[in-house]
Amino acid sequence: MSSIDSKRQEVKRRLVTACIAAGRDAQAVTLLAVSKTQGTDAVRAAHAAGQTAFGENYVQEALDKIAALADLRAQLQWHLIGPLQSNKTRAVAEAFDWVQSVDRLKTAQRLAEQRPAHLPPLQLCLQVNISGEASKSGVTPAELPALAQAVAALPAACVRLRGLMAIPEPAADLAAQRVPHRQLRELLEALNRSGLALDTLSMGMSADLEAAVLEGATLVRVGTAIFGARAS
Ligand SMILES: *Cc1c(COP(=O)(O)O)cnc(C)c1O
Repeated sequence: MSSIDSKRQEVKRRLVTACIAAGRDAQAVTLLAVSKTQGTDAVRAAHAAGQTAFGENYVQEALDKIAALADLRAQLQWHLIGPLQSNKTRAVAEAFDWVQSVDRLKTAQRLAEQRPAHLPPLQLCLQVNISGEASKSGVTPAELPALAQAVAALPAACVRLRGLMAIPEPAADLAAQRVPHRQLRELLEALNRSGLALDTLSMGMSADLEAAVLEGATLVRVGTAIFGARAS
């Protein structure tokens, strides 16, 4: 068994344990392997171990990787989880399955216009700046409802709003880690009460996936716990 295989199995065990503690079905949480800075060999090893969903932060690095792994394209699902500049939306609309880092209507509009007609709708999450950090991307909780309504109204054949994503500030213990994850879940619940039908809560990373699962994460984004420390 490769080292990536055994590390991934350990992450899966952590997820199952957290789901049991939360009284949730383990099938309800998708594991996204964050492969930023990792080479194509690492992605191939993870795929061979059963991993299908991958997350990337840097658009150009991701485009190169997706092209180099074209032979596996039909079996992989690529998620953009890092910042997206307007001049890169076309390439992203053509290459990715999901964009989790939408925080402006303009970006979502461009992705909708540029999504090729032969592909299924691009799946979108809105990134929320849940810890209120000035340096972080993401829409503020106050601006979220208007953005969510506007993105949800874009053409359904092109984009589909699935939910929310956040990168909370690191916190030391489980109780403190749960607070921002709970806030994100409550924002999603409020949007659904106002008429949306969002099913995705993308939260939880290597250090806090238990807290995220306890608060209802449906998709956890795990890098170092699967691939080991990043070189950069
Ligand atoms: C790097 C990254 C992750 C994974 O972080 P790890 O601590 O390596 O698990 C998850 N989400 C985003 C947005 C990231 O940039």
